[in-house]
Amino acid sequence: MSDDLNFYDTVIIGGGPAGISAAMHLVFHHRKIIIVDRQTSPMNFYTNPVRNYLGVRPLAAGVGILRKMRNEVKESGVTVAVQNVVDIQGEFPEFEVHVEPVAGEKRNTILNAKTLVFATGVARKHPLVNGDWRGWLPFAGKDNISYYCPDCEGPLTFGKDVLVVNAGSVNSALHVARQIRPFARRVRIFMTDDAYSPFLAQYREILEESEFEWSNGVIEKVIVQEPGEHQQLVTTRGEILQCNHFFVALIAVPRSELAVKIGVEVDKRGNIITDHRGKTSVEGVWAAGDVRPITQSIAMAVGTGNYAGIMINQFLLQ
Ligand SMILES: Cc1cc2nc3c(=O)[nH]c(=O)nc-3n(C[C@H](O)[C@H](O)[C@H](O)COP(=O)(O)OP(=O)(O)OC[C@H]3O[C@@H](n4cnc5c(N)ncnc54)[C@H](O)[C@@H]3O)c2cc1C
Repeated sequence: MSDDLNFYDTVIIGGGPAGISAAMHLVFHHRKIIIVDRQTSPMNFYTNPVRNYLGVRPLAAGVGILRKMRNEVKESGVTVAVQNVVDIQGEFPEFEVHVEPVAGEKRNTILNAKTLVFATGVARKHPLVNGDWRGWLPFAGKDNISYYCPDCEGPLTFGKDVLVVNAGSVNSALHVARQIRPFARRVRIFMTDDAYSPFLAQYREILEESEFEWSNGVIEKVIVQEPGEHQQLVTTRGEILQCNHFFVALIAVPRSELAVKIGVEVDKRGNIITDHRGKTSVEGVWAAGDVRPITQSIAMAVGTGNYAGIMINQFLLQ
C-alpha cells in the first residue's frame, strides 16, 4: 500500500456532472475523496445552450455549467486530478487505482481507496467525413448546425427540414427520426455506409417500410452556408443533400472496461448494471451518470451521482 496521502475513502473516476455530484455529497460529509478526470465530458466541448436543466439561466452553455460545477467542487476542497485511470486492482476495502498524466511524461501513480465510483460516461461516435471522425468535429453539437440528443434538442427543429445523419444502427436512426417528426417540417435519413454498426441487407427493407425518405452513401464534405437555414452534405458519389439542420443518430459506447476488469456486471450494451441506488455487483463499487443504462442527461447524471454519494457515505459508516 502507498502512503496515507494517497489513501482515500472514495476515488471517483470521471469528473462530469455525475462524478462532481457524488463528490459534493461525500466532501460535505468530510470524506477524503479525489476525482480523476481526463476531461472528455461532452460538456467540455459542446456549445449548444442547455434548455432542460434547472437553475442555470442565463448561464446556459454546457461548458459554462460544467466549469461552474467544477469550481464549486474545488472550492469545497476536493482535488480534481486531470489524469487518466489506466488500471484498477484489488477489492474492497483496498482498491488500487493506477493513474497516468494526460499529457507529458507517462508516470504511473497509485491511489488507494476503500470505495470507487465509476462516473465515466459514454464515448459518442461521430459520423465519418472522408473516413475520419475528426472531419465532423467542427459541426458536432453546434447550435443550429448539428443536434445530437432528441430528448434535449428535438423541439429545436420545429418547422425545419432535418437530415438525420446516421453513425450507428438503423434502429438509432429511426429512433431519432421518430422523436423529431412531431416538430420538424421534413425528416430524411442518411445512412452512412461507413457507420460503426454495419449496414445489413435487412435494414434496407426496414427503411423502405418506414415512413421516412432515406438514402445512403459516404460523406465527402459538409458545407455550412448559414447555420439553421442552409447546409449541405456532399457524398462521394457527388450527391448534394440540403437541409436546415443535421441530427446525428450516434452510437454511444459506455466506458465500462475498467469496471468489467474488476468483475462489475454490465448489460449487453456495456452499461454498468446497478441497483436503484447505484451500487454495482462488486462490493464497494458504485456507478453514476451516462455509464448506467439511463437516459443521458445532466439532470440524471447529477441525480444518480448524488444518490451514489449518499449511499457510499452510509456504507462507510457501517
Ligand atoms: C452534443 C451533446 C449535447 C447534449 N446536450 C444536453 C442537454 O442539452 N441537456 C442535457 O441534460 N444533456 C445533454 N447532453 C448529455 C449530457 O452531456 C450527459 O448526459 C452528461 O454529460 C453525462 O454526465 P456524466 O458525468 O455521466 O458523464 P460525462 O459528462 O461524459 O463525464 C465522464 C467523464 O469521465 C472521464 N473519464 C472516462 N474514463 C476515464 C478514465 N479512465 N480516467 C479518467 N477520466 C475518465 C471523461 O473524460 C469525462 O470527463 C448532451 C450531450 C451531447 C454529446
